[in-house]
Amino acid sequence: MDIRIPFNKPCFEGKELVYIAEAISRGHISGDGFFTKKCAAFFEAEFGCSKALLTTSCTHALEMAALLLDLKPGDEVIVPSFTFVSTANAFALHGAKIVFADIRPDTLNMDEAQLEKLITSRTRAIVPVHYAGVGCEMDAIGQIADRRGLVVIEDNAHGLFGKYKGRHLGALGQMSTLSFHETKNFTCGEGGALFLNDPSYVQRAEIIREKGTDRSRFFRGQVDKYTWRDIGSSYLPSDMLAGFLYAQLEERQHIMEHRSKIWNRYHAGLMDWAAAHGVRLPAVPTHCEQSFHMFYMLMPTAAMRQAFIEYMKAHGILCVFHYLPLHLSAMGQKHGAAPGDCPVSEDISNRLVRLPFFNKLSNEHQELVVEKAKHF
Ligand SMILES: *Cc1c(COP(=O)(O)O)cnc(C)c1O
Repeated sequence: MDIRIPFNKPCFEGKELVYIAEAISRGHISGDGFFTKKCAAFFEAEFGCSKALLTTSCTHALEMAALLLDLKPGDEVIVPSFTFVSTANAFALHGAKIVFADIRPDTLNMDEAQLEKLITSRTRAIVPVHYAGVGCEMDAIGQIADRRGLVVIEDNAHGLFGKYKGRHLGALGQMSTLSFHETKNFTCGEGGALFLNDPSYVQRAEIIREKGTDRSRFFRGQVDKYTWRDIGSSYLPSDMLAGFLYAQLEERQHIMEHRSKIWNRYHAGLMDWAAAHGVRLPAVPTHCEQSFHMFYMLMPTAAMRQAFIEYMKAHGILCVFHYLPLHLSAMGQKHGAAPGDCPVSEDISNRLVRLPFFNKLSNEHQELVVEKAKHF
């Protein structure tokens, strides 16, 4: 059967087209124009970061973070095995040896209790990922990092507007990254951001983002010409994309409310069925306010997960798995990882399935997803 209910769909929320047209009529469609500044000012005010830099993707924001670490050969970066490739690849690309941490079986976040035994004299940074927008145990991670002199970089691709103990995700490490890819809560197609919570990174980050030049200072009138200062690349998104993003950020209350309703409807609709069939629904600790990025279920076995995906597909509903553990990948093995290193990641990856989830998922379609799931 044709897919009637997709897993994801990019949604227009308000003035996206108006702001793209405005960027064009303002005559500044390259980076750091009117709308880029609006987005950055919003993030800096809301999150209290020293600097919010829009980037072309979360992958690129992570690469900028790697460059800011000034990695030397043999330096190590700890990432969860259960994450998107970019969390690890960005640091591997700039010379780090990747060390994989396993995840907690409850939140599926980096297991802070595993960190001490993974830290060596060469460890430079820890990169927690707030899976599904539920905060990692940032107090414990921060304490370990402080004690061992490590930098914490939050990969907050899922967690925009989520909170940990009342504090914004993305405001807790020295740096954090966001994604505005089509699949994320807020989008401009492709895009991202790097938040610098530690002001000592700001000047160099601006240079790295501007092809290794001090062009940002030049535009602010702080220097009278700009020159090649450091290594860098081209990480600025077009102001047309920033306009698209700003339109979505303006609708944040409405988007978050809608997503929370979708999440809560799934949870209420599936709770009894899940309990009766050994299916586990997401765990959100009381000290975390999630960002409602996704709704996943943990099936009892890998075979049941596969059968579920096929059953739903036969009814026109696309459900998908998530994250093949990075420590099992060809690149993971090159970084010295071996099967069995992260047993929880291996188990979860085999059993997790995500249900359709996007801003404009209709009530009617969602009810159909719940109905079909309960008949599986
Ligand atoms: C989506 C995602 C990324 C990559 O985001 P892009 O903007 O596509 O580069 C990185 N990390 C996590 C956890 C993600 O989910």
